[in-house]
Amino acid sequence: MNHPSQNTNRLSVLSSGPQRMLCFIVLAVGSLCASRTVLADQLRAGVAKVDITNRDVPLVNDPLYAKALVIKNDSTTVAIVTLDVVAIAEIGSIKNDYLANVRAAIEKTCGIKPHNVLINVSHCHGIVCADVEQRTVQAVQAAAKTLVPVQAGTGTGHEDRIMENRRMKLTDGSEVDVRRAYSMPPDVQVAEVGPIDPQIGILRLDKQNGQTLAVVYNFACHPIQGVPNGGNTADMTGFSSRVIEDNLSEGTMAFFIQGCGGDINPIMYKAVDHPGDAEPLGNLLGLSTLKALRNIKSKPGSRLALINESLALPRADFAERIDALQSEQRRLLKSLRGTNLNLKTFLPLVVKYNVSGDFPAYYTQLYLHEKQMGREHLSRLDAVNRANMKSYRRNIHIMEQLTRIQVNLALMTKHQRNNIAAGTRVIDVEVVALRIGDFVLVTFPGELTVRIGLGIKRRSPHKNTFVAGYTNGYIYYAPTAEQLRNLGAAQEDSECVLAPEWQKIFETKVAELLKKI
Ligand SMILES: [Zn+2]
Repeated sequence: MNHPSQNTNRLSVLSSGPQRMLCFIVLAVGSLCASRTVLADQLRAGVAKVDITNRDVPLVNDPLYAKALVIKNDSTTVAIVTLDVVAIAEIGSIKNDYLANVRAAIEKTCGIKPHNVLINVSHCHGIVCADVEQRTVQAVQAAAKTLVPVQAGTGTGHEDRIMENRRMKLTDGSEVDVRRAYSMPPDVQVAEVGPIDPQIGILRLDKQNGQTLAVVYNFACHPIQGVPNGGNTADMTGFSSRVIEDNLSEGTMAFFIQGCGGDINPIMYKAVDHPGDAEPLGNLLGLSTLKALRNIKSKPGSRLALINESLALPRADFAERIDALQSEQRRLLKSLRGTNLNLKTFLPLVVKYNVSGDFPAYYTQLYLHEKQMGREHLSRLDAVNRANMKSYRRNIHIMEQLTRIQVNLALMTKHQRNNIAAGTRVIDVEVVALRIGDFVLVTFPGELTVRIGLGIKRRSPHKNTFVAGYTNGYIYYAPTAEQLRNLGAAQEDSECVLAPEWQKIFETKVAELLKKI
């Protein structure tokens, strides 16, 4: 490891004494080597965080932060910002000019190039303060003032207990997803569930005294479980970061980078028999990250590179899907059938016909008595009730299906309208490839679904390649081309501005950047 003080000493020797020529040769060879073995260069990094919690709410459970990691070598300076917020444009309280404003202020006050400022949001649904823009800039300014020499280490952890894929394939080939905004389909219709990505991508930055300065960790899951008291919260990734920070060197900062969590939910997201609680889930993620960190050693080196490219992606045309959904909506509405039952009479029948399948209407004794008398009045009533219950249950399932169609149709219609109003058939996005030591990260502004990330990782030429959505902007969901051809409708393929062709264009660009970085 080259200490900066050693470099300074070497220069002072150079400028004095008779060995000047010899030293010049040594330095020249040294700098030649530097381009390969990076002897003279040195990674330096600083961290800072600013509280961005909106406290003007009925209850705050835990704080939300803007955290900044400024990292540089001799030629490149990068600022990585993580925010406990849903998005930095389009949805939530942060306005669309946030990214440009923050970058301009950082360039002006810290001299960091706008395209080298990378901002990722956890996508938690916490509420932030009104001046989050100024506070973000403050965090970066503070981090830039505290740079110290560091060395980087990269590795992976594993966590598969805290999340689930929220998309399901149904027996009819269509796909639905798990939301609190609508009902699940009947159990018998569910044929298949999607994958998760249990990998935690980890970068550690250690100071020269061996203490940890920062842990950057990438994982894919919507942090939307909430806390039992309903208070403002940074959700599971706020808790995981706290566990990491509490168990490493004093002052260590944990930076959560949201991955391809577009179709990944916290486990048991729709449970109604216990209060949803993000804390145990976050604790598990934090502990799994700490466990992995024990096996990750940092090493000398100054490799730092960032490529930021603009990519034009095709906008969706949902006209056909909207037509198809509307006609399905009409068909379902027409298929509702009247029955003798309503909710009040249906529910007690459900209990009775499940408690005593053969003799639900009255006691067995009367069924036997009727049989003795040559009558079958109770059995006849049972047959009528069973038919009505079947019909009523069918109506309920149609109603539940209609809630899903109605919500997703509204999303699709909104984006169709916006895509037409945009007056262009493409949308420009920033794609970034970042390399710090052996840690390679690719970013995208949309909510990438997990298969996108798994594919990029599988095909990457670099062992430690990680993928972040929710970065440098926000363009809603970015599902696979196949998911966008869903015969039904789910949030990821309805709350989307992209045409199916986007995936190939993006993945081609990513492959190109990964080759370069
Ligand atoms: Zn989301």
